[in-house]
Amino acid sequence: MVSMSDSFDRIDAEVTACQRCPLAATRTNAVPGNGDPTSSYLFIGEAPGLHEDSQGLPFVGNAGQVLNRLIGAAGLRREKVFVTNIVKCRPPDTRDPHPEEISACSEFLHRQIDLMDPKAIVTLGRFSMNYFLPGEKISHIHGSAHVVDNRTIIPMYHPAASLHQPSLGQTLSDDFRQIPDLVSVDHKPNVEDALAGSEVSVDIEPGSDSDNLRQLTLF
Ligand code: URA
Repeated sequence: MVSMSDSFDRIDAEVTACQRCPLAATRTNAVPGNGDPTSSYLFIGEAPGLHEDSQGLPFVGNAGQVLNRLIGAAGLRREKVFVTNIVKCRPPDTRDPHPEEISACSEFLHRQIDLMDPKAIVTLGRFSMNYFLPGEKISHIHGSAHVVDNRTIIPMYHPAASLHQPSLGQTLSDDFRQIPDLVSVDHKPNVEDALAGSEVSVDIEPGSDSDNLRQLTLF
């Protein structure tokens, strides 16, 4: 539920001053997210890398260039969507975020989601996917739509995956191209689905970044 007094400016200020976890001690800049908060599309990555930490902006390194191209392949513009991360500060040496760091940061993400009320949340990489769809494998469900707590979640490989494994570049482009179609379908669960469980999968057939070397995160 959105508090009447909450706003993106307020979240940005709180993230910037945040001391909730040890990443506060090692970050250069916190990275709340950027883009158009009125967009229907929210893209969620894992955590800032070296370039993001130094600029305070998400996806501005090599992975960001790939993401921008992919957003274009979906018929969207980067400045017209909102981009953020599960964890808002860079883990040292760009290691995987720890569960305590993810949970310390989750309130910010939830407030961003509540304020935006996006039509689709596109998760980038395994950490972001597992936040909404725990236990799923990205190789099984990339590019498909799922309803979790009444929100449409579309898991994607991490854009940096294509830098490590070029064959995934085509998969990523194909998956991103399906985003508008996946969003235009009504994914809301019917009553039986809702009674059966909180997650509903929708059966639709979809027509050296050295600072971001987190291979295990990508698959
Ligand atoms: N990788 C991420 O997951 N997030 C960023 O902001 C940059 C690279």
